[in-house]
Amino acid sequence: MNKTIFISNRLPVTIKRDPDGLKFSESIGGLATGLKSVHEEGKSLWAGWCGLPNEDLKKKDITEISEKLFSEYQSAPVFLTQDDIDEYYYGFCNNTVWPLFHYFTEQIQYDPLYWEAYCRVNKKFFDQIKDLIEDGDRIWVHDYQLFLLPKMIREAFPKTSIGFFLHIPFPSYELFRLLPWRKELLEGILGSDLIGFHTYDYVRHFFSSVRRLLGYEHNLGYMEVGERLVRADVFPMGIDYKRYHEAQKKQYIQEETISILEKVRGTQLVLSVDRLDYTKGIPGRIKAFSEFLRNNPEYREKVTMILIVAPSRIEVESYSELLKEIQELVSDTNGEHGTIGWMPVWFFYRSFSFENLTALYAAADVMLVTPLRDGMNLVAKEYVAARVDKRGMLVLSETAGAARELGEAVIVNANNIREVAEGIRSALQMNVVEKISRNTILHKRLSQYDVEFWANDFLNKLLEVKEKQHYNLLQKLTPEKMKKMISEMNKAEHRLLMLDYDGTLTGFKDKPEDAKPDKELLSLIDKLSSEKRNELVIISGRDHQTMESWFGGLSLNLIAGHGMWHKELNGKWQQSETLSNDWKNTIRPILDVHTARTPGSFVEEKDYSLAWHYRRCEPELAAVRVSELKDVLGDLTSNLNIGLLSGNRVIEIKDTTVNKGRAASMWLNKKNWDFIFSVGDDWTDEDMFMILPKTAWSVKVGGGISAAIYRIESFKDIRKLLKRMADS
Ligand code: UDP
Repeated sequence: MNKTIFISNRLPVTIKRDPDGLKFSESIGGLATGLKSVHEEGKSLWAGWCGLPNEDLKKKDITEISEKLFSEYQSAPVFLTQDDIDEYYYGFCNNTVWPLFHYFTEQIQYDPLYWEAYCRVNKKFFDQIKDLIEDGDRIWVHDYQLFLLPKMIREAFPKTSIGFFLHIPFPSYELFRLLPWRKELLEGILGSDLIGFHTYDYVRHFFSSVRRLLGYEHNLGYMEVGERLVRADVFPMGIDYKRYHEAQKKQYIQEETISILEKVRGTQLVLSVDRLDYTKGIPGRIKAFSEFLRNNPEYREKVTMILIVAPSRIEVESYSELLKEIQELVSDTNGEHGTIGWMPVWFFYRSFSFENLTALYAAADVMLVTPLRDGMNLVAKEYVAARVDKRGMLVLSETAGAARELGEAVIVNANNIREVAEGIRSALQMNVVEKISRNTILHKRLSQYDVEFWANDFLNKLLEVKEKQHYNLLQKLTPEKMKKMISEMNKAEHRLLMLDYDGTLTGFKDKPEDAKPDKELLSLIDKLSSEKRNELVIISGRDHQTMESWFGGLSLNLIAGHGMWHKELNGKWQQSETLSNDWKNTIRPILDVHTARTPGSFVEEKDYSLAWHYRRCEPELAAVRVSELKDVLGDLTSNLNIGLLSGNRVIEIKDTTVNKGRAASMWLNKKNWDFIFSVGDDWTDEDMFMILPKTAWSVKVGGGISAAIYRIESFKDIRKLLKRMADS
């Protein structure tokens, strides 16, 4: 059996040095807990930085760390130097990616030295773990420190399943594009098969950046990256609900916490818990509490705020400045509102243990979580789970990823101090029945979607992607296969041949008039169609007038407008569907604006569709405009019964009830065919491929992912194949 390897910047084991030597302890964090059950079951490994720089380690320490981690913790260490940590971790990770991905543009440092270190350290991770990897393993890479790793693993071990999860937000394209190394980051991530984010907004932003920077389209969450199918999806990370819910049964609370709770008894308790970080909105929160006291003097001496700030990244200059600002705001607030017997804000600049934290959670009347931007925010979820009697209330800012799931909390805008102050008041004054009812819904959700569910859901989806990739890999229509196909055809009496036109029977031409069928093609089609055992249908997106002018002279079955019109042998053109065109009034003006802004593009109005052609445009500009147009149209068309089809240098907007699949089924149902051959080259042909029986010979011209079974290089090869079919 193959194994699972988790890779994160830090291991779920903390190693410290004390006078007796190295001390190992298990770290308990969201990630470690979530992956614990999968990690402990048999063949699994966790790789990450050991936490101590090489300069602090002797040769024998390195051996001890490696052996002990492997035998007792199923883990493998990565070793880094102090320079690595300074330039990669404090540099690129914390001074470039972190502020950029959290929308703090003024804090971003674009330092090529940091970038070099980031590349170097990602490579070090790869070099130090590559001997542990075997093709076929399942690998799950975590977070923004290791964006480049999936690609490195993919190149060396193409048959591994690679998942990547981002624990912080993915910013909008407008922000992401600021990064000089934006393409390299995306290419690194796209080495994965499955990419997970906490919220749908992050997925959307990711797709948008991939499309605009690398040109890969997505379809129902899947992208075609070269020959591979890559999926991006939402997996909101949960907490270990049971552990928080049952925390109060354990009595390890320290004296200090008991005495804090005793001191504030008699007043209501507002709690705030964060790591020291500018994304957490701590200064705004203190200001909001101060404003609340100012606006609601009746609460003086009746409410206390406990403000816990756990030290973090203090080596980074902006963090020490933030600490000063917090200290000043706390002292201003206490100075303005405090009385002899009452201190409004109790500030603790230290880390609290699980037991002490949960004791505070369980006592807090209001939990104030107002980050300016946060990937998820686990504290918000932990509070809800730990307040077992459901009589507290969470005030949560909409810019925390958790707000997507915890809509029953009091939701505020963290930048609106007045609104946060008002949120504190309404949470404190909310009646018990309402609090219990809101919290009951939250508890149910948190207990269902806990961290174990999250981990299993991600790993199951990774498996699904691999299966889908396998299914979608196109086989080359080799000479042997062709021979087999023709021999099957020769034995068959009732043969159906469904042929797309543009890109399949002819190459793409700049001018539509040049796409006209040449003599050779016409005589080939005529020959195939005249054979009594063959039923040949040309199935095209072109309008029926064009099809008539091109093929009207032959006795042929024709389908035009992706199925809107059809004509049977020697018959007349008939409309296959009756549709409304009202939606065109909404969409046409948007296409016209895009046309005006994109030299060389034009709109073609067909009976029941609109097509925006950009084959004559400057490709760079066209790529930008196509993305913009898709964004705008994607939003609009979701409410209408119409869809977008990306063809070869054309976007077609049409009623979704018309497609080549429906049109092809008309012919499929006519007879019990004993040989079916179908060929096409773009998305519009996928509807046709999808409805074919398994025994059909379906061929896609060009590479990529498709519901067809075989692929062939170009329209010239199709012509050669048709010639062989006609001559056989
Ligand atoms: N935490 C802790 N002690 C503290 C402060 C925080 O153990 O004094 C834990 C908290 O319980 C939570 C984590 O640190 O599990 C913070 O996670 P969150 O997602 O809220 O923010 P992050 O620090 O990851 O940005």
